[in-house]
Amino acid sequence: MDYDYDIIIIGGGPAGASMARIAAQNGMSVMIYDKRKELGEPVRCGEGLGQREVLAQGVDLPRWCFSTEILGAKVIAPNGKSITWKSKDTKGWVLERKMFDKWLVELAVEKGAKVRTYSRVTDLVKKDGKIDGVMVSQWGKEPFEVRAPLVVSAEGMEAIVARKAGLKAMSTLYDVDTCYQYEMKPYNHENLIELYFGNRIAPRGYVWIFPKDAKKANVGIGIGAHLTNGKKGGNVDGAEPKRLLDEFIAGNKELRDASVLQDFGGVISVGAPIDSFVKDGFMCIGTAARQVDPIHGGGIALAMETGIMAAGVAAKAHSRKDYSERMLKEYENAWRSGPGKKMGKRLLLRKVMEEVNDDDLNHIFNTIKDADLQKVMEGNFAGPVAKVVAGRPQLLRILKALIS
Ligand SMILES: Cc1cc2nc3c(=O)[nH]c(=O)nc-3n(C[C@H](O)[C@H](O)[C@H](O)COP(=O)(O)OP(=O)(O)OC[C@H]3O[C@@H](n4cnc5c(N)ncnc54)[C@H](O)[C@@H]3O)c2cc1C
Repeated sequence: MDYDYDIIIIGGGPAGASMARIAAQNGMSVMIYDKRKELGEPVRCGEGLGQREVLAQGVDLPRWCFSTEILGAKVIAPNGKSITWKSKDTKGWVLERKMFDKWLVELAVEKGAKVRTYSRVTDLVKKDGKIDGVMVSQWGKEPFEVRAPLVVSAEGMEAIVARKAGLKAMSTLYDVDTCYQYEMKPYNHENLIELYFGNRIAPRGYVWIFPKDAKKANVGIGIGAHLTNGKKGGNVDGAEPKRLLDEFIAGNKELRDASVLQDFGGVISVGAPIDSFVKDGFMCIGTAARQVDPIHGGGIALAMETGIMAAGVAAKAHSRKDYSERMLKEYENAWRSGPGKKMGKRLLLRKVMEEVNDDDLNHIFNTIKDADLQKVMEGNFAGPVAKVVAGRPQLLRILKALIS
């Protein structure tokens, strides 16, 4: 077969770049197409990233890729009560994603991958009914054909090409959060991420304040998309993320008078991953496959992890010259029995917490301690649930799903 590349990756975000790096390292010829004029721009992200997750990817984050270190977190209940845990050591970073995304792609280029910006993949090329390449429009011009035995969708939320490949890469409104974020200055912070909960503050979601250097912060909100557009949701009639964020800021002594350096809106999946990640000659990775944490909507670390996992299987497929769905399924099985299991538990937690009202939330915050929160985040619910239910037995009906 006379192919242009061994693998074509659609999208140079964390998923595509990570897969490209490992595939190229394994001797495959790789091309990344990204429709953006500049990788990483415009930024549509809270930019928070845990340290543990990054170290697990085998990359060492250079100083210029992040704005500031995160030392811990402060979680605030609807009644204003907060739980804080702070460490002397770095727990994560608030990135500069425009630098970070480009750096990840550069690592792939250093291993031999090629990349082209301002290049939109408009369609798939098929031969005898099988995926055999893509159509690419560069600089908005007429699309042309590029051929590879393996095409990868790392397209993020849009996932248009993944759908053309026959994957159900779509989300219901219920499984999506609509978001709005400002970058603000000045904000005096202690290098902690702050998360504010409550149905009046952010129905089926939360407000975040992520610290940045030079007294800046990303101040954002995510709420259940099914509760927006004038529909009644929680205690909020016609919830709308920007309006709710503005109300939150107006009620915050420090942010009220701060300036806005950037603002944007976006959507992120908080539901289950798509039904199937692979087809003959095709893989879907990262947020395109809805591999996102259902609790907080974070997807950078999962995208990187998945990219690496998928690259290992792609390299195996390449060495055997077998790009069949059966062969590529190895990636899907590994994902579902690894990170997928943890995400399943967290999806359950998200659904359970949706049924909890503000009064119950206040009770939960009054009961649990820092160490309990740590357990909850790791998916060990039994101990914290027992404590909460002891003081409010009626919550057993809702919370028992976490321990059964
Ligand atoms: C408001 C908001 C805040 C968030 N905050 C956080 C956070 O703090 N921490 C966190 O971990 N996650 C956060 N996320 C989620 C995170 O941004 C994504 O999960 C992550 O970027 C997924 O990486 P990816 O590589 O799968 O996709 P993306 O980063 O979305 O990359 C996809 C790439 O594909 C390109 N592309 C798409 N279609 C085509 C096409 N047809 N042809 C060519 N190129 C194409 C795009 O231009 C893009 O560069 C947030 C999301 C939102 C909306």
